[in-house]
Amino acid sequence: MEILFSVLRFGLVSCPSCGGYGVQDSLLCRECEDEVFRLLNPQVESFEGWTVRSLFSWNPGESNALSALLLGLKGRYRKKAWRFWAEVFSRHHFGALGENGPIFSISAPLRSRKSLGDHASHWMEAVSELHAMSFRGSPFHKATRGVQRKKSLEDRRGGLRLVKKTEETFEKDGLWVLGDDIMTTGETARAVHRALGRPLRFEVWCLARRRIGSRPVDV
Ligand SMILES: [Zn+2]
Repeated sequence: MEILFSVLRFGLVSCPSCGGYGVQDSLLCRECEDEVFRLLNPQVESFEGWTVRSLFSWNPGESNALSALLLGLKGRYRKKAWRFWAEVFSRHHFGALGENGPIFSISAPLRSRKSLGDHASHWMEAVSELHAMSFRGSPFHKATRGVQRKKSLEDRRGGLRLVKKTEETFEKDGLWVLGDDIMTTGETARAVHRALGRPLRFEVWCLARRRIGSRPVDV
């Protein structure tokens, strides 16, 4: 019966971690969901003058279930699963915006001018609704490869190039919250911060904070 409900909810989706059916709203089967919940590690971190909030600390070698979830969430038709994780995130970062003043939220830059809403926008749309933030979608897309390729290596090191999708100018007085699924080096966040005109108050809300160079915990 549980499998039947799962099929009705998600179509013929199997757990991205173990391949089993009986997928829950989280996108995982009950067992893999349990494993991922044991790894919950909500953190508030100071990063280059901003605040970074996350739900998981991710080291790809550490848990197959968590890695499979993060990759699975990048797929199509994952809006419901993103909503589930947005609710978990909001419970653990409750009261994060306990201050006055305008709050704007945006999702990570799209891959190209033509691409529409993607996983980052599902994430931020759900989180924004739960925190009553004014969601602006994704105002930037990444510069095409051609543009990147023309630049010298030295310029490319200067950071990811973003292109504005509209002529809109951005308020610098409020708090800007950028949503992305995974934050690794902060390169995307840095590019968005720069493209917004370096607002004084800037936060990144991500599902997972990827640790670089950290060794798998052998326990
Ligand atoms: Zn599973």
